Amino acid sequence: MNGAIRTDHRGGVLRGIGASPGIAIGRVLVLEGPRTPIVRLDRTPEQAEREVVRFSRAIRGAWRQLRALRDRVRSEAGESYARVFEAQILILKDRSLFGETVNLIRGERVNAEWAFHSVVGRFIRIFQSLGDQDVKERGTDVEDVEARVQSILGGGRRIRDLDGLDEEVILATANLSPSDAAALNRRHVIGLALDFGGATSHTAIIATGMGIPAVSGLRDGSRRLRSGDRVVLDGCSGTIVVEPDDEELRLWHERRDRLAQRDRDRSALRELPAVTLDGSRIRLMANIELLDETLDARRWGAEGIGLFRSEFLEIRGSDHSAAEEIHFDTYRQLVERTRPHEVVIRTLDSGGEHEPVLVDGRADANPALGMRGIRHSLKNRESFRAQLRGILRAGSHGRVRVLLPMVGSVEEVREARGAIREASESLAREGIPFDPSVPVGIMIEVPAAVMIADRLAHEVDFFSVGTNDLIQYVLAVDRTNESVAFLHRPLHPAILRMLRRVAEAGERGGLRVSVCGEMAADPLAAVVLLGLGFSELSVTPAAIPGVKEVIRRVPMSEARSIAAEALGLDTAGEIEDRVRDRILALLPAEYACPI
Ligand code: PEP
Ligand code: MG
Repeated sequence: MNGAIRTDHRGGVLRGIGASPGIAIGRVLVLEGPRTPIVRLDRTPEQAEREVVRFSRAIRGAWRQLRALRDRVRSEAGESYARVFEAQILILKDRSLFGETVNLIRGERVNAEWAFHSVVGRFIRIFQSLGDQDVKERGTDVEDVEARVQSILGGGRRIRDLDGLDEEVILATANLSPSDAAALNRRHVIGLALDFGGATSHTAIIATGMGIPAVSGLRDGSRRLRSGDRVVLDGCSGTIVVEPDDEELRLWHERRDRLAQRDRDRSALRELPAVTLDGSRIRLMANIELLDETLDARRWGAEGIGLFRSEFLEIRGSDHSAAEEIHFDTYRQLVERTRPHEVVIRTLDSGGEHEPVLVDGRADANPALGMRGIRHSLKNRESFRAQLRGILRAGSHGRVRVLLPMVGSVEEVREARGAIREASESLAREGIPFDPSVPVGIMIEVPAAVMIADRLAHEVDFFSVGTNDLIQYVLAVDRTNESVAFLHRPLHPAILRMLRRVAEAGERGGLRVSVCGEMAADPLAAVVLLGLGFSELSVTPAAIPGVKEVIRRVPMSEARSIAAEALGLDTAGEIEDRVRDRILALLPAEYACPI
């Protein structure tokens, strides 16, 4: 079918990166970018009064949107996810933020946009100077609130006012934060066209989890598309066909229907085990980050949750016992919904993509290399303790494992294990039920961890390889930067050698070793992973059937032979070609686009 994509029709073809698979056919709705330049405009006293009214209305509008969002997220994902919006509502109600902006509009006779931006900037600078991490992070919320209010002042449609949509749209926008993506209404938003971001950004991962096809890295796509354009968005190949002619549209509809049929056929695999043709049993689990996604995991036949990303549970503030209750409550539900299978809960991996990108460059200049993952948890011991206690307590309701992100040294593991010990001891002292033998594992996603995997194997119970970050750090390719996305090659020889090293270290140490990065969701790469020695894969729920189907059609002996041949080749290109040829020879035709 790809051969049928023409480049000579009226609208043309935009090319980006396939960020979430699937085909969406519909009308575009363009949302203006998150940051339009804010300029100072002088006003007369009468105009300034009108600016005050406009500002008050925008604040009220933002408040209404946030309340609606909070309620929807609360009913769809649970109380803990709704807290992000609760915090933002409180900021909106802050009298000094409002009062100072009004004073500035009147005092200096300026436009509302500029006055609000100046006041918010001052607030954020204060947060930053206070040093406390929790307080600093309040800056992110203030920023998000500002974007919402500015958007209303600008009269633009942003994510906020999509609740009123009553038609299906393909959203085109410069960028979308992971929390905005999670708040999308999947009934009406059928596709996403994003200027920024790579295939393994958290926004892409969330879109995949929600089953919304997405193309990212379109650079200026949101400016080249117009609201109302009829487009075909192909989240596999990363292309958007603008205003296709009738014949082309017919072909796309056919392809979409065929893919839907293939998905229905694959769902028949749900009850069948992931076992290779020659009898090797593979455990296929699901990566999720919202409680609701346990339904998807079950629907696609996951054998447990191999990665629960807990970033949405980042709880700010100093009431740690309240935070512990939220953690516990969420994990207990998670465990109960996943029984009889197990759940791997990853402790907070804040920072990185979650780090606030603050105005005027006051953010961590290089968040991926900054205070993220286990580094952040070890510096915020009270919050870490609350999360650990929540996890250990959930262990008394079902099978739980705890996973530490971004580990780069044995010291970090020992320190974290010390914190887990302390959390256990305190629960025992208080007579609170918990599981004292929750297995402790680490993400292998920092190159240093690969090189000392043999040592780390003495310290932990399991490894889970995070290829998204590992590839980012090994190949020096920012996973969120679309301009280097072409260099994000999971089958690069350096990556394969590192993966082999980890699998061997795990095997020698008698550890369970899995892969939970997006690489495992690509059926062809998944075969290579099996051949390298990984017998557990955790992927986004919708990818499970495709990976399972490949596993069931390939003998392990062949997977090993493919991996061995790949390890002997020089370039990513050679490996990709060879792996594809060898595996596709064993599969039916529709595999050109994985999933
Ligand atoms: C990874 O890095 O591969 C991973 C699974 O974690 P995340 O995508 O959440 O960083
Ligand atoms: Mg990671």
